[in-house]
Amino acid sequence: MKTIVITGGSRGIGRAAAILAGARGWAVGVNFAREADAAAETVAAVVAAGGKAVAVQGDVTIEADVIRLFDVTAEAFGPVDGLVVNAGIVAPAAQLADMSVDRLTRMFDVNILGAYLTAREGARRLPFDRGGRGGSIVLVSSAASRLGSAGQYVDYAGTKGAMDTLTLGLSRELAGQGVRVNAVRPGIIETEIHASGGQPDRAHTLGTASPIGRPGRAEEVAEAILWLLSDAASYTTGALLDVAGGR
Ligand code: NDP
Repeated sequence: MKTIVITGGSRGIGRAAAILAGARGWAVGVNFAREADAAAETVAAVVAAGGKAVAVQGDVTIEADVIRLFDVTAEAFGPVDGLVVNAGIVAPAAQLADMSVDRLTRMFDVNILGAYLTAREGARRLPFDRGGRGGSIVLVSSAASRLGSAGQYVDYAGTKGAMDTLTLGLSRELAGQGVRVNAVRPGIIETEIHASGGQPDRAHTLGTASPIGRPGRAEEVAEAILWLLSDAASYTTGALLDVAGGR
């Protein structure tokens, strides 16, 4: 069995990945920031699917919280050998000219600093030589990193560009130690994040306009994440995998 940590594992894409991991018999540290009820529901769903899980509250922008997330998971299930760097936020659509310093700071804190702190802890802890199996880190970036999200979310898109670059660099740093590092770049996926961006209908509108003609489901992104975590992807590292319906 693998033991994995998922930041922002309580809702949306992280939750779907946790449940799919549970269905494979894996153990999951389900991180959440604010919504304990959602995390508890996800833990129950992972167990119902056949895995094990523990909910761990923590803000990915706080170093001590990130360390504790790995500690609690390892104490419950043994050494962590997989990590999904998934926690992320958007803000209401705006032009860059109208974005406040507070907004930019929060966006960069959660999506960049949080990703770097979490990936750093993974780089320090993942077992580098566990029977030759190594470990796997998957970052949840976005198709926005190559589209730019002009007029709406150039701040968010930039944070995802940083995640892509982190994926490329860290994959090379850790390859010699048997740890693979990859990113998935989802397109328009139906989750609650669109409501927090002030556009609850965005997933439907943009998803319908994508080549595949519909928004994606969190479970479809989870399949890609689980493949990259698994030993089936043993020769894949430094990849930026679009799961974007052709967008
Ligand atoms: P959701 O809003 O559905 O879920 C976000 C998750 O992140 C929640 O579990 C939330 O916990 C957690 N979270 C937020 N801030 C923090 C924090 N500071 N520390 C720890 N956890 C935090 O989002 P999605 O599932 O849609 O998004 C997941 C990832 O996928 C994000 O990185 C997003 O950018 C990316 N993505 C999403 C796309 C989409 O269309 N949905 C498209 C492309 C990329 P809590 O509820 O407790 O606050």
